[in-house]
Amino acid sequence: MDRCPPGGDAGARALAHVLHTPALPYDRSRGTHKRATVARIVEADCIGCTKCIQACPVDAIIGGAKHMHVVIEPLCTGCDLCLPACPVDCIEMLAV
Ligand code: SF4
Ligand code: SF4
Repeated sequence: MDRCPPGGDAGARALAHVLHTPALPYDRSRGTHKRATVARIVEADCIGCTKCIQACPVDAIIGGAKHMHVVIEPLCTGCDLCLPACPVDCIEMLAV
């Protein structure tokens, strides 16, 4: 229950509450907690190369070849994997 960096200390506390065990800070050796983010494509700059679609592990990006692409925000986990895939740097991460 203390090994989930995405949940952070709040997640560890919530799990401890549900499990009726003492709350512990999450284990920092497992990774770093960061704020929740979501990807957004700057539509005017997108060249429709489809590389972000291939990079996204959860199929959160839609679009056709040579047409503007878009992120389906509820599906995006904020993993950042689409950022290096974009040849024109038109994907940005926004705080949720
Ligand atoms: S941040 Fe991750 S989940 Fe979100 S669109 Fe990019 S690759 Fe997909
Ligand atoms: S990788 Fe960048 S330019 Fe290519 S389709 Fe995705 S957002 Fe558009």
